[in-house]
Amino acid sequence: MAKIEPYREIYIKDGYRCVYCGRDMLSDFDTWMSIELDHVIPKAEGGDDSITNRVTSCNLCNKLKGAFVPEGFAKMEQQELLEEIRGWIFKESLKWRAKYYPATEQFRVEEFRRLQAQQEDD
Ligand SMILES: [Zn+2]
Repeated sequence: MAKIEPYREIYIKDGYRCVYCGRDMLSDFDTWMSIELDHVIPKAEGGDDSITNRVTSCNLCNKLKGAFVPEGFAKMEQQELLEEIRGWIFKESLKWRAKYYPATEQFRVEEFRRLQAQQEDD
């Protein structure tokens, strides 16, 4: 059998799903394009390149996770670690939504009106 590239080994291990939100990264082209590898424990915190420390992540979860590591991470089992990180990502997503959603909706409404006015002028 041909040798598999290390990053693909990780995608296969995770079933091509984001380990944080469960998104199926093979579901469509846009989702596929947002596939990333994440170091569960960042290298800056002593994380290595082992297959257990690297996981499949969508870019949104990876961005929301940032440099987060749970307190006491060094003594945690992988599943507990991932649960802590999922909780963090969920809270971050709520924070970002609350902060930016009203602004992005406002922007969309303004753009919609601008395009409408433009069409009426044509
Ligand atoms: Zn995700």
